[in-house]
Amino acid sequence: MTLPVTVAIEDAPKARRFVSLRLRLLAMVLLVLVPWLALVLFMVVSRLVKAAEARLTGPVPATAAVPATRECPACCETVPARATRCKFCTSELKPA
Ligand SMILES: [Zn+2]
Repeated sequence: MTLPVTVAIEDAPKARRFVSLRLRLLAMVLLVLVPWLALVLFMVVSRLVKAAEARLTGPVPATAAVPATRECPACCETVPARATRCKFCTSELKPA
């Protein structure tokens, strides 16, 4: 009648070793896979954010190349490019 108890006691270290191996495997998986998963997730998310940014900002408008202001030839002050009269010296300006 003492044999099953002895077997159970002898099996205990094996069971502990099994649990320990599972924990070690879990730790290895976590330590190896999680950084790589984080890196892949970071790259995917950053690419998605860049794509969304490009979609939101859209193409650069062509009017950006045209200057919004020009210089008055009479008084050298800066006036709007569409102005027909200088607001500083009131001289007439040619339409741009
Ligand atoms: Zn002027």
